[in-house]
Amino acid sequence: MISVSTLITNIGELVTNAPDADDGGPFAGPGPFAAIADAALVVEDGRVAWSGPASRAPAADEMADCGGRAVLPGFVDSHAHLVFAGERSAEFAARMAGTPYRAGGIRSTVAATRQASDGQLRANAGRLAAEMLRQGTTTLECKSGYGLTVDDERRSVAAAAGITGEVTFLGAHVVPPEFESDPGAYVDLVCGPMLAACAPQARWIDVFCERGAFGADEARAILAAGRAAGLMPRVHANQLGPGPGVQLAVEAGAASADHCTYLTDADVDALAAGATVATLLPGVEFSTRQPYPDARRLLDAGVTVAIATDCNPGSCFTSSMPLCIALAVREMRLTTQEAVWAATAGGAHALRRADVGHLGVGASADLILLDGPSHAYLAYRPGVPLIATVWREGELAAGAMPTA
Ligand SMILES: [Zn+2]
Repeated sequence: MISVSTLITNIGELVTNAPDADDGGPFAGPGPFAAIADAALVVEDGRVAWSGPASRAPAADEMADCGGRAVLPGFVDSHAHLVFAGERSAEFAARMAGTPYRAGGIRSTVAATRQASDGQLRANAGRLAAEMLRQGTTTLECKSGYGLTVDDERRSVAAAAGITGEVTFLGAHVVPPEFESDPGAYVDLVCGPMLAACAPQARWIDVFCERGAFGADEARAILAAGRAAGLMPRVHANQLGPGPGVQLAVEAGAASADHCTYLTDADVDALAAGATVATLLPGVEFSTRQPYPDARRLLDAGVTVAIATDCNPGSCFTSSMPLCIALAVREMRLTTQEAVWAATAGGAHALRRADVGHLGVGASADLILLDGPSHAYLAYRPGVPLIATVWREGELAAGAMPTA
């Protein structure tokens, strides 16, 4: 195979989040927010081969000229539910008219998902994944969790595996109606035959630990069973009220505790002392009119924070990481640098990925070109389609190759 190198140059601001050079080699994972002005980048064999000031760029086979615009690592959306059928716009409209959100609304999507064919589930998930890619998301996580029978979860996990390698088995999303009188039997099903059917195509196990979903003991049992089947844990925690989810996630060594809307001091201390990322989903608070999590409290305590969409038909049906960045800045008081870092490097940490979320040498050449000179435009120009070009593993994935 002939290797072709591409020089992407005349970059007004190149956000690299590059790992420290002496941090253990090219796959040390993202470092803190870092950017280079008047920069260039060389891509070869799908990887970042060089980055630095444009004036010192080496020659390459091909060239792209960004005209002074900003280039960022592709977004890493570490929390999404794209395998489902139906939609819930009427529930959203009712909520905006004053009806509160409850976890039980998930059941209406479960009914539609069970009715849908494999082809319909794959087509819907593929359409949403393509929508994400056009908006700059080059890595996404996708959960099952609207099937809730052994066969419907198995085919949900298979549909997720068709769009990403970051597949999460979420049989423990809610207790389905047919197990309402015996939730313990449902937990046994999740930990037994359902897990066995889903684990071969999944990387992660997740549980919705919340009043109205699963309690602490159930969540612990589900995560332990998943770990025994080779899956790594992540947890939906403290979304609708205070609860045991966050501390349980840290205790289980979960890669991420997601939502973190209602936190006690002990929850914040546990996150700060552990290795679990706090993944904030500001689109959910926006779409449910819940209060936003106190992100500054987490950042000030030294917790690693990620931002993700939680794209799902009930509590938040956006696939837009730029919207989530704008909300994190405007509503959760992150700086523009913190928000962009959380949507790229933070997501990579939440998926324990060293090859994405940054543009250090050796990283996957997943890049976005913004129609603007600075990463700040993502929050400064909310709602505007700013993603001009997307490359994934060095290949043009959306938009056109920029020329001077
Ligand atoms: Zn979720």
